Amino acid sequence: MTKKIVIRPKCFTGEQSVAYTNRGHLIPCCYCDSHRTMDDPKFQKLLEQSKVSEHETIEDIIMQPEWLKFEENLRLQKIEDLPWACINTCKVREDSEDVVRKETYYTPDKPKGEKALVRKI
Ligand code: SF4
Repeated sequence: MTKKIVIRPKCFTGEQSVAYTNRGHLIPCCYCDSHRTMDDPKFQKLLEQSKVSEHETIEDIIMQPEWLKFEENLRLQKIEDLPWACINTCKVREDSEDVVRKETYYTPDKPKGEKALVRKI
């Protein structure tokens, strides 16, 4: 039996914010800017309403029906209607080594090469 996927959207908690692509689209966050998500027909409907040059304000974009539906799908955990980026990035993980990204920070007061902090996301 496969385990139910639960999404904890980082865009709801303030850990992620909207992003602007070099193709001129506003997208829900930078993790969505991958082929697997951008080529998803469901996500392309959102993209069609997200060309910044075609709107007066950012609010005008995020209040479009597709954006409201996207938010609703996240809020109601409609996994089948979510793009890969959201499932991969924001699913609740039980294994602390199963991470999307690992960041290592170095500070000037540490000897060269010594890790100061590793942040798993
Ligand atoms: S991947 Fe999806 S759910 Fe996660 S922060 Fe980005 S838009 Fe929100």
